Amino acid sequence: MSDCLFCKMVSGDIKADVVYQDDKVLAFRDIHPQAPWHVLLIPKQHIANLNELHNLELGGYLLRTAAQLATEHGFAESGYRTVFNCNGDGGQTVFHLHMHLLAGRQMTWPPG
Ligand code: AMP
Ligand code: ZN
Repeated sequence: MSDCLFCKMVSGDIKADVVYQDDKVLAFRDIHPQAPWHVLLIPKQHIANLNELHNLELGGYLLRTAAQLATEHGFAESGYRTVFNCNGDGGQTVFHLHMHLLAGRQMTWPPG
């Protein structure tokens, strides 16, 4: 999608601080980190949000990759949080599906 910020990161038109990528997903550091380790994991294909995710294999791949990245960065045991914000009440500001991966501090509940 030509006017989508995260599609531009996939294409390389906008530089991302890339943590991991393969043919299906891209993971990069959030520009405004809310935890010592704050990564966004996105499908390379444009999908607006969780409402539009119908590909079960891709959904599972995102989850599995998130767990692998957290493990590789040393957070499997201490713990981490995964978040998909969806639409207005969910607090979504970028309309390309992304999973927040947050770690490195004690998270609180309920979320704000
Ligand atoms: P959300 O509010 O769930 O849609 O999350 C969007 C996230 O994208 C926010 O945490 C922003 O800090 C992050 N973000 C926005 N622009 C950039 C950028 N250029 N590079 C990295 N992260 C970004
Ligand atoms: Zn996009």
